[in-house]
Amino acid sequence: DISERKAAEAHIEHLAHHDILTGLHNRFSLEDRLEQALAIARREKRQAAVLFIDLDNFKNINDVLGHQAGDQLLIEVARRLKDCVRESDIVARIGGDEFIVVLTSMGDTSHVVDIAENIQKCIAASYEIDGNELSTSPSVGISVFPNDGVTADELMRHADVAMYHAKAQGRNSFYFYTESMQVAAHQRLKIEHELRVALDSGHLELRYQPQICTRESTFCSVEALVRWNHPEQGMIMPEVFIPIAEDSGVIRELGEWVFDEACRQLAEWKKEGIENIRIAINLSVKQLQSVGLTEMVKSTMLNHRIEGSEIELEITETATMHDPELAMRQLNALRELGIKLAIDDFGTGYSSLSYLKRLPIHTLKLDQSFVRDLESDSNDAAICRATLALAHNMGLKVVAEGVETEHQRDFLIGHQCDYLQGFLYSEPLPADEVRELLGSC
Ligand code: C2E
Ligand code: CA
Ligand code: CA
Repeated sequence: DISERKAAEAHIEHLAHHDILTGLHNRFSLEDRLEQALAIARREKRQAAVLFIDLDNFKNINDVLGHQAGDQLLIEVARRLKDCVRESDIVARIGGDEFIVVLTSMGDTSHVVDIAENIQKCIAASYEIDGNELSTSPSVGISVFPNDGVTADELMRHADVAMYHAKAQGRNSFYFYTESMQVAAHQRLKIEHELRVALDSGHLELRYQPQICTRESTFCSVEALVRWNHPEQGMIMPEVFIPIAEDSGVIRELGEWVFDEACRQLAEWKKEGIENIRIAINLSVKQLQSVGLTEMVKSTMLNHRIEGSEIELEITETATMHDPELAMRQLNALRELGIKLAIDDFGTGYSSLSYLKRLPIHTLKLDQSFVRDLESDSNDAAICRATLALAHNMGLKVVAEGVETEHQRDFLIGHQCDYLQGFLYSEPLPADEVRELLGSC
C-alpha cells in the first residue's frame, strides 16, 4: 500500500529531524535550519540571534522526582519556548536540558533583550507536574549574526560560552557574548589541560597549616592545602584552579592525589616520632558525590597504615546540600571508618540547624569572614558567639579559621572555642617546616 509506505517514510523522516520527547528540532536538524536562516539573513542583510538555554538545577529534579517528572518538565519547557517566539523562528533541543532558540531575520537586535527577558520569565514560572509544584530557571547565552560569528558552528559555540558565563554569574540570567568571555573560556581550557599535566608530572604540592587546641595550647592537627607549582608561573593558589578542576572533573583525580599525599606525609611524621597529630583534608562536592569515595579512602588509609581517627575531612555546607541523600550515605560510611567530619566555611551557606543536626559531623569550622571583623563588627562577634554556643549545645567542636590577631584569639578563647587556625600561629607551611614546628611542642 503506497499511502501507508509514504506515511511511514514521512514518520521516519520526522523522527530523524525531531527530538522524540518534545517534538522540537534536534541538533542535526537545527544545524541545517540555522545555516539556511543565516544564508537568508546574509542575502537580505539582516541579523539573527542564537540563544543557548540551559536549565538550572534540572539534575536535581531528575534525581529527586525521577526521570518521568524530568521528561514532563522538558516537554512543558519546550511548549513555553515555542510560545515565546514567532512561527518562523527555530526552537530545538540539543541535549538533556539544553535548548537553542534562533531568532531569524531581524532588522535590528533591539528586540532580543525583550525576547530573552520574556523567555526567562516564562521558564521561571512554576510548573505543576504529577501534583507537585516545581520550578526551574534558565541560564541564557546569546550570540548575534553577523557580529559574533558568521557560521552556525561559530554562533553556537559563542552562545555556549555566553551561557557558561551566565551560569557562573549566578544562574537565571542572560548574557550577550563578548570577546573577553572567549578569552576567559580559552584560559579555562588552558588551565584545565595544564592541570592534568601537573598531576602527572608532580607539580602539585601540599602545604600544612597547624590548628592549635585551646585547652592544651598545643598543635593537635594540620590542614592540608594544595598548591600548584607551575614551571613558568610559579606558585598558583587553589582558589584559581580548584573551581576549574571541579567544573572539568579533574577534581576527582586531584582529590585522590591530595588524600594519598596527605596520608603518606602523616605516616612519615609518625615514623619520625611525631605523635598525636591529626590531618585535615578538604573534600570537594564532586568527590562527595563520587561512588568510589569510601573505597578510595579505605584503601589509601590501609596502604599508609593510617587510622580513621587520625583523619578529619572538611566539607562545605553547600556540598552536603547538593544531593542530601547521597551526601548522608557517604558521610555515614566515612564515619564508620572512624574518620572525623567537619563542616567547612560554616555560616556562609544556607543550611538550617535542624538539617546540620542530622549529619554525622563532629566539628564546625567558623568561616574566616566572621573572625576577620570580630573587633569592628558587633554583628560578626554575635555570630561567632552564637555559633560557639549552639555548636557546643549540639555536642560539636568548633575551629575558628583565619585567626590573625591576639584580640581575636582572646575573644575566641573567652567563648570556649576549641581550636584556632590562622596566620597568628602559622601560615600554611611546607612539610619539613611544619615538622620543626610540630617537633618543638
Ligand atoms: P579553606 O579550606 O577555607 O582553607 C583556608 C584558607 O584560608 C587557606 O587558603 C589558608 O591559607 C587561608 N588562611 C589560613 N589562615 C588565614 C589567616 O589567618 N588569614 C587569612 N586571610 N587567610 C588564612 P588557601 O590555601 O589558599 O585555600 C583556599 C581554599 O582552596 C580552601 O579554603 C579550600 O576551599 C580550597 N582548597 C585548598 N586545598 C584543597 C584541596 O586539597 N582540595 C580541595 N577540594 N579544596 C582545597
Ligand atoms: Ca578547609
Ligand atoms: Ca574554610
